[in-house]
Amino acid sequence: MNVMRPIRSVDDLEQAGLIDAGEALSLEQVASRYAIALTPSIARLIDRADPADPIARQFVPDAAELVVTPEERADPIGDHAHSPVEGIVHRYPDRVLLKAVHVCPVYCRFCFRREMVGPQGLGTLDAAALDAAFAYIRDHSEIWEVILTGGDPLVLSPRRLEEILRQLATISHVKIVRFHTRVPVVDPLKIDAALIAALKASGKIVYVAVHANHPRELTAEARAACDRLTDAGIMLVSQSVLLKGVNDDPEVLAELMKAFVETRIKPYYLHHPDLAPGTSHFRLTITEGQKIVAALRGRISGLCQPTYILDIPGGYGKADIGQSAIRETGDGCYSVSDYRGGEHVYPPDGGGF
Ligand SMILES: *Cc1c(COP(=O)(O)O)cnc(C)c1O
Ligand code: SF4
Repeated sequence: MNVMRPIRSVDDLEQAGLIDAGEALSLEQVASRYAIALTPSIARLIDRADPADPIARQFVPDAAELVVTPEERADPIGDHAHSPVEGIVHRYPDRVLLKAVHVCPVYCRFCFRREMVGPQGLGTLDAAALDAAFAYIRDHSEIWEVILTGGDPLVLSPRRLEEILRQLATISHVKIVRFHTRVPVVDPLKIDAALIAALKASGKIVYVAVHANHPRELTAEARAACDRLTDAGIMLVSQSVLLKGVNDDPEVLAELMKAFVETRIKPYYLHHPDLAPGTSHFRLTITEGQKIVAALRGRISGLCQPTYILDIPGGYGKADIGQSAIRETGDGCYSVSDYRGGEHVYPPDGGGF
């Protein structure tokens, strides 16, 4: 098979040697519910000799996706409850999501919007819907930041992106434009001069949140793509999901965060996996997650520390769910734990205030 061709079906996966013929039947069932796509860069990165390869686990479908547990739901983070017009999610006063497109270059098997993305998903906003979305942003002067997500906004052509961003340029209360994307990592050559010019077409301050979950994803090509963005004056932050069998290990997570910092990407969020249908094989408990995250403190630089986040089901927004290092012991005193687990009284003389 031509390694330069994207993989988009169970047949393609079989031809690429990424699944066995015996798995095809059950995976067709998965494919009928959830989209499949791997870019050539990602397909090349998979170690076919490793049955537990952390890259394969993120992108190659698994029969375990057919198991839906009672707590899972189609809209795990409550997008619908906060969507005033098509394509806009307005949950926090000062910022909105603009979901112009519901297509991605790869389909993550743990995706929190898996019921909305893909060829059978919500599609791309048409001109009228986009106009309505911009009218909404224009009418709400409290909107300081617009976050382009989806789907992956960087699958749009530079020309389409530029059209969207030129509209934002005319709205003076919007100061920040943020993109959430996997493209710099999964299709690095797409980050070229034309795309970068389009990303900057709003004239606003631009942030790109780069999604990656395993240090091997930050290949030399991916790092070069991120360098092109940073060199163009775009700020990069990271976004990862804590996933069983991918990065649920302090060693791997530390390597990932260091790889981000070495690439001039400031670690931002580490998401606890959402309750998306057919994803229970990726979920660890929050207590397990807290232990892994706490182990990063002290082990790696403060620059490398992400915030461990839960998107509260039902649309209540994000919460910092990292273990707290401090607890009140009464009379204005606290007990604070250091990175080795030692406990200390604060203030140190124990006298309170
Ligand atoms: C996650 C999210 C944001 C962005 O949250 P930050 O904490 O600013 O990164 C904004 N709006 C919605 C609806 C979200 O789900
Ligand atoms: S890139 Fe994001 S939206 Fe697309 S499949 Fe992965 S997690 Fe879902």
